[in-house]
Amino acid sequence: MHELSIATAIVEQAEEIARADGADDVSSVTVRVGELAGVVPDALHFAFEVARDGTALAAARLVVEQVTARAWCGGCAEEFAVGMPPFFWCPRCDQPSQDLRSGRELEITDVEPAAARP
Ligand SMILES: [Zn+2]
Repeated sequence: MHELSIATAIVEQAEEIARADGADDVSSVTVRVGELAGVVPDALHFAFEVARDGTALAAARLVVEQVTARAWCGGCAEEFAVGMPPFFWCPRCDQPSQDLRSGRELEITDVEPAAARP
């Protein structure tokens, strides 16, 4: 299950970001996951619960923002969703297009620190 190594990397990066901000604990972390990133959100949520154990994210929530895979057709200047499984063919001018504009994202977009202790 490669989601576990991804979840571990997310936890480690979020910890670093939180520490750089002077926070000890993280309440939530948001990640953008592209349709073509090869990550199953359910599996990622499950893996995250395993990976966060004993870290600054032990009580953190994982928020997954899914990004639709879209390609660009230079021929007719049309951006289109490639779907899943992906089909790189412009629906407007009926030509192949491999110019993927989004869908491979796998990045942390937000780390929310837990409220400071009194
Ligand atoms: Zn086109």
